[in-house]
Amino acid sequence: MALAANLGFPRVGAARELKKAVEAYWKGALSSTALLDTAKELRMRHMNLQKNAGVDIIPSGDFTLYDHVLDTIAMVGAVPTRYGAVAGDVSLDTYFAMARGSQKDGTDVVAMEMTKWFDTNYHYIVPEFRKGMKFTLSSRKVIADFVEAKEAGITARPVILGPVSFLLLGKCYGEDGLDALSFLPDLLPVYESVLQELHAQGASWVQIDEPCLVLDLSDAAKEAYKTAYARLSTVGCSLMLTTYFGALKDNLALATSLPVEGLHIDVVRAPEQMDDVLAHANGKVISLGIVDGRNIWKTDLSKALNRLEHAAERYSADKIIIAPSCSLLHSPIDLALETDMDAELKSWLAFATQKLDEIVLLRDALHGNKHVIAFSNNEAAIADRQVSIRIHDKAVQARMAKLSAKDTERHSAFDDRIEKQRTALNLPLLPTTTIGSFPQTQEIRAMRAKFKKGEITEQAYDAFLEQATTDVIRWQEEIDIDVPVHGEFERNDMVEYFGEQLNGYAFTQHGWVQSYGSRCVKPPFIYGDVSRKNPMTVRWSAFAQSLTKRPVKGMLTGPVTMLQWSFVRDDQPRSTTCKQIALAVRDEVVDLEQAGITIIQIDEPALREGLPLRHADWKDYLTWAVESFRISAAGVQDETQIHTHMCYSEFNDIIHSIADLDADVISIETSRSAMELLDAFVDFKYPNEIGPGVYDIHSPRVPSQSEMEHLLQKALDVLKPEQIWVNPDCGLKTRGWAEVRPALEAMVAAAKAQRQQIEKSQAA
Ligand code: GLN
Ligand code: ZN
Repeated sequence: MALAANLGFPRVGAARELKKAVEAYWKGALSSTALLDTAKELRMRHMNLQKNAGVDIIPSGDFTLYDHVLDTIAMVGAVPTRYGAVAGDVSLDTYFAMARGSQKDGTDVVAMEMTKWFDTNYHYIVPEFRKGMKFTLSSRKVIADFVEAKEAGITARPVILGPVSFLLLGKCYGEDGLDALSFLPDLLPVYESVLQELHAQGASWVQIDEPCLVLDLSDAAKEAYKTAYARLSTVGCSLMLTTYFGALKDNLALATSLPVEGLHIDVVRAPEQMDDVLAHANGKVISLGIVDGRNIWKTDLSKALNRLEHAAERYSADKIIIAPSCSLLHSPIDLALETDMDAELKSWLAFATQKLDEIVLLRDALHGNKHVIAFSNNEAAIADRQVSIRIHDKAVQARMAKLSAKDTERHSAFDDRIEKQRTALNLPLLPTTTIGSFPQTQEIRAMRAKFKKGEITEQAYDAFLEQATTDVIRWQEEIDIDVPVHGEFERNDMVEYFGEQLNGYAFTQHGWVQSYGSRCVKPPFIYGDVSRKNPMTVRWSAFAQSLTKRPVKGMLTGPVTMLQWSFVRDDQPRSTTCKQIALAVRDEVVDLEQAGITIIQIDEPALREGLPLRHADWKDYLTWAVESFRISAAGVQDETQIHTHMCYSEFNDIIHSIADLDADVISIETSRSAMELLDAFVDFKYPNEIGPGVYDIHSPRVPSQSEMEHLLQKALDVLKPEQIWVNPDCGLKTRGWAEVRPALEAMVAAAKAQRQQIEKSQAA
């Protein structure tokens, strides 16, 4: 008999209880006992929810106070020495110090690095490896969680992050050429002990996550897999080797040849691999991830059932497990909380709780026990979504059909455009600007909240925003910023603000998803063809422009970022959705130009994170991502200057695509690495203008004028003076005015000082 399994459940709780408890603990407002009680309550609640849904295989150990990779770091004792000795047990404070750094009792230790978990918007703590590092079992959390579930009457399947992925996801420090995989022999005994203890406690199966099996692997990594699993498979627990987020592809033979009892594959992202895996399964139990763990759409149950029946015919039903594609950590918890959503939209969706029901329905149907009503409701919802006029907009489709290469081209090439722009704008050398947002103070947030709750009128809110915008324009004139911005005070979030004004976008009330640690985001979802209802930003940009003679930079979020930070419809290629958004942004760009805005920035901070996991797929993605950006930008006259912004610094491998965006100016993050990151631009001879951030806005520190001058000199060493803009790293919305004021004053002074020197040397 096929079983229904889950791979992981959202941790945060329906009312974000975990977030609240953890943050209260950090503030000293909650005791550790109370925090751990909340955590236990959540674990029990979620286990029972899964049990009551009828799930056969319930995970334990998937819950974490912060991050599951950090839990693994604690488990194997890979605690960097700056956090002190752990002596066999990582304390709660050490655990959180690794996550967030710690400043107390005269000590000041920085946090460990954090990075994106594969191509999701979840961030994990990056393991640090240094020469001579030793591993010992230093946290028994995964064992304790299994025992806790057992005592509550649930024999769970513990989840651990596998040793090879753990190493591959980490970073080596100190010595050049140190290879994380070299730590495998030292690491395996700790994993063996964990599995032994779990086995002794009665765990017959363990889910061991090895998502790196869907990546391009070196030969050494492939060998590491063989070594690791030859050893771990002898401990006694049956291992469910778990892969997700893509196809095994060239690692398929490796994965199926490892001496484990089970293999989980992602059949949502990579349905085509199912038959191949079954053909090579060697009698393993195959877990089919058939319900999308990363999106919010209802599963087409009939289609999924067909697929499962096909698998059961080819293989054997009792060697098949039905599961979500990956941990449900990446979906919101429960659709039932969405009491404000209209019935039609809601009928198309399934959140984590509903996905469990789908898995159980599929299991029962595969056993010949088809819940007729549930299946026919599902069929009706799927059919409605296929034809709904809310999704399929003829006007958008007609416009898409007419898109041609011409729509991706500015009138003239950069060299011609920039001459016209220089004449029209008449800016000094090293022009100063910012990335868009100014501090979102408590006052601004409070006013927005009041407005949303109907406690103040629209006029009052508007008047307040006008005042804030006026003040910030005046202040920028006062400190002599060459290209001021309006401050983005009217925006809650750079995606939400636009999504709320576009057709095809919808929002949830409670669709929180963990982004990192206690931080959750509520991504909008794109359900239908996207188009613009009305101008979205013209009102505030035009208002700001009316206050000053300087060119006020218009500020938009680009199509790739709008796509990347939303749940995206799964009934058409992402590239199609992206281009629809691009057309909507294009309309806005053209309207801004009409309203007298001569510089328009289209932010694309998410361009790089959209890169596919496999190198072979990069080209296709970059092609449509670049095209989308160009569509959004290309509707304007040569004189209108298009800027873009990206808040990161790794450009080496995508610099051609960055150049292909053909933005007139790009601002990037460089201040933290002292401009080294300009290398890619210099080696490539990037032709357009660049604003390498000289002020690190991620830290509350106020940089000095001389520091920023030093950074500018470094940029001047490698770029032409006419090519360089002076700006911070990113938007200032998370900073306070007390830091922003002196920092920007110093930035303008730095630009002026360098400008003078250049002019002097040019005159000489
Ligand atoms: N214009 C946005 C801002 O200044 C850009 C934010 C971002 O790059 N993430 O806030
Ligand atoms: Zn940024």
